[in-house]
Amino acid sequence: MTPDRVQQIVETHYPWMYRALRLAPWDIALDYWSLPVGRGECETDSAHRTAAIILDPDEHDTADEVLMTLLHELLHVRFAVLDVYHEAVSPLLTPREQEAVDSLYMLATEQIVGETLRLLREGLGLSFSTMRKAAQK
Ligand SMILES: [Zn+2]
Repeated sequence: MTPDRVQQIVETHYPWMYRALRLAPWDIALDYWSLPVGRGECETDSAHRTAAIILDPDEHDTADEVLMTLLHELLHVRFAVLDVYHEAVSPLLTPREQEAVDSLYMLATEQIVGETLRLLREGLGLSFSTMRKAAQK
């Protein structure tokens, strides 16, 4: 998919997802370029409530795929409160312990985000149009 098309889909759906996930006052930058791994990436700075999300246009063929990646990355912002715990324990660790905690933290956050997405889509059977309608009430 072209970067322009991905951006167009994101700009149409980002506002309701942002509202639905109660992300205010997060300031989230969105960008579109090739990533070495995965469909998307999200960096968060909980202290400043800023985030940067990148979606890789080459890894998306359908609008539904773009929405899945966008929601996935926005869920990372939603759960960024967990960064506080990660950052609080980091100064207490040796480099080896830090490596283990970083790896565990990454796995845990991916699992939380992935399971939440599965809960919404498969567990509750919510389509993006159902979620969009609910978010506009
Ligand atoms: Zn993720």
